[in-house]
Amino acid sequence: MKKPGLQAQGFLGISQKYEPACMNWQAPVVWDHAMGAEIWDVDGRHYIDWTSGVLVANVGHAHPHLAEAISRQSHRLLNPFDFPTPERLHLAQKIVEATPPHLEKVFFISTGGEAMDAAMRLVRRASGKYEIVAFWGGFHGRSFGPMSLTGLSKIKKNFGPLVPGTILAPYPYCYRCPFEKELADCDLFCLSFLDKIVEVESAGSLAGLMVEPYQGTSGFVFPPAGYLKKLEAWARRQRILFVLDEVQSSFGRTGTMWALEHEQLEPDILVLGKGLGSGMPIAAVVARSAVMSGLERGEMSSTSGGNPLSCAAALAVFEIIEKEKLVEKAAANGAFLKDKLLRLQDKHKMIGEVRGMGLVYGIEYVKDRTNKEPAPDLARDVVLKCVEKGLMCGKLGIYGNVMRVAPPLVITPDLIDRSVAILDQVLSEF
Ligand code: PLP
Repeated sequence: MKKPGLQAQGFLGISQKYEPACMNWQAPVVWDHAMGAEIWDVDGRHYIDWTSGVLVANVGHAHPHLAEAISRQSHRLLNPFDFPTPERLHLAQKIVEATPPHLEKVFFISTGGEAMDAAMRLVRRASGKYEIVAFWGGFHGRSFGPMSLTGLSKIKKNFGPLVPGTILAPYPYCYRCPFEKELADCDLFCLSFLDKIVEVESAGSLAGLMVEPYQGTSGFVFPPAGYLKKLEAWARRQRILFVLDEVQSSFGRTGTMWALEHEQLEPDILVLGKGLGSGMPIAAVVARSAVMSGLERGEMSSTSGGNPLSCAAALAVFEIIEKEKLVEKAAANGAFLKDKLLRLQDKHKMIGEVRGMGLVYGIEYVKDRTNKEPAPDLARDVVLKCVEKGLMCGKLGIYGNVMRVAPPLVITPDLIDRSVAILDQVLSEF
């Protein structure tokens, strides 16, 4: 990659000197400002955005209506702690009205990880038990509760002992099936295997199951159609709570407002984050009344949870999504993008798989399509060259070989054309 600009070099030096190296790897770019689906760095270089930050800026960067709502609220009231405010109450009502009817109460907090932690408390309290089924490759946040649920060793390595009670089960990563089966004739073996796992591992205190509609951090791994509904039915048969972690899959990302709509899922607890504030920190736990009432006054609260600034932002996010029909746009422009990415897969043999829906895709790079050997170094070099040519992107995945394609939902067909052309050109150089 060509050298960062002079301004960026200066800032990167400051970062190296004063910041820890614990954050995720990124191309060496120092963002200055962004608008819609476009970014400018501190040297004035321009990029088309395929990251949305980290699937956060669903309504686009610096949306004027969102900026105006934040600005207006910042002059009125920032934080009265747990006193009710019109912003928090309107947002609670909005979320309950916009989610399936059986979900009746909302608790606000600041981050997705904290919201998953809150969901763990609710599951334990509502069931009186403590074991939670979570999944290989799953990611739910970095604090100790959700970290203990993760099925990614690099997230939890050397941090133990973790919170006890997690039972990990295989997720249907069909491109790399852990049982080396083919979807066409596996009859969802991983699902029936759950019975075996629970029979062997449970201490008889099964409380709930926590799952992502697709696994983001593991490389945008999407389960086969019908899997999640069957998983929900399994949880019902076990009489345990079904928790859906939609921290990153919600607010139009998959071409529907909530990912649960694809299979009419009815989770006992739905967890929201990222796109809810589209840049302002806010997350929400949405649950049945009976589940939420397990906690008594004073048992769950946080200094910044439900603060009016974040709630005003989230209300503006709902307005923008509705007014600009961003869910419909994500579906239509997503289909346009998917078609183009699949053509790249046909053309470039280093792409093992393209998977996703709406405006979220993973491009998995391999050294060899036959044995599917992951190509993390190639993925890194592709990302660096794309960034050099003006396409902001990143990589992730269990093997670090998956390119993240998750632009703000306001991306236009023209920007999609231009961004895919950059990737095509870069791949042709390898
Ligand atoms: N759950 C999922 C599915 C996520 O993707 C993430 C973050 O990437 C989290 C939870 C944690 O959210 P946060 O980083 O806001 O704590």
